[in-house]
Amino acid sequence: CGIFAYINHLTPKTRREILELLVNGLKRLEYRGYDSAGVAVDAADLKDIAVLKRKGKVAALEELLQERSAELCVEECVESHCGIAHTRWATHGEPSAVNSHPQRSGEDNAFVVIHNGIITNYKEVKTFLENKGYAFESQTDTEAIAKLVDHIYNQHKDYSFQELVEQVIQQLEGAFALCFKSRYFPKECVATRRGSPLLVGIKTKRRLSSDHIPIMYTNNKATRGVVPSVPRVNSHAHFEPEEERDVEYFFASDASAVI
Ligand code: GLU
Repeated sequence: CGIFAYINHLTPKTRREILELLVNGLKRLEYRGYDSAGVAVDAADLKDIAVLKRKGKVAALEELLQERSAELCVEECVESHCGIAHTRWATHGEPSAVNSHPQRSGEDNAFVVIHNGIITNYKEVKTFLENKGYAFESQTDTEAIAKLVDHIYNQHKDYSFQELVEQVIQQLEGAFALCFKSRYFPKECVATRRGSPLLVGIKTKRRLSSDHIPIMYTNNKATRGVVPSVPRVNSHAHFEPEEERDVEYFFASDASAVI
């Protein structure tokens, strides 16, 4: 399966451009296999996240985006530009719209996540969360991650987005590359991996200074890498674009999607 995510701040883009960028990224990953595809982008007021997903090829997702373009206000510019996209190769749960990614924490899309890999302890995590009152809608292992981050957020509203993700991955077993978005952190995107591939691409017209390099967290210690490399095991990258940073960031399952 494939992960493709994009975030920038400075360069204004319409939501149509963001969606095209995501869909083109997914197309370059199609050779990895897929049975369904989906995207999540900031809704117009930045207070919500729009999730669109469909069983079938990336072309089927493109049709869905076309059908929903009026509702998505595709020509609008928003303050921040961030989107995540996924092509799924089902391991837990049949190919279907509800099992497609992004998976979500609840109907309010407070947290959404895309996942490449398998969470081997998802049953324990799911049972724990069901006992806390979470109702699951899909058969995927991934949904447990979306609900776990929401649960931790509700316990620790003071945590930053990356602190939440750090807490989440400490409770996960198995292989994963993950990319999170949240309506509580509208200008941010957090990605992490253990076992599954994920890399970061950086595009800028400027000479890169260390300020432009995303902070890479390895075993929960923050370091700045000079080369935007594939995050290492147990590491994650946190992207919080700031003013004056004419930089675009991409997360992708492999390099062919970033070129
Ligand atoms: N295990 C997840 C699922 O079945 C992710 C599969 C994938 O890597 O596409 O939904």
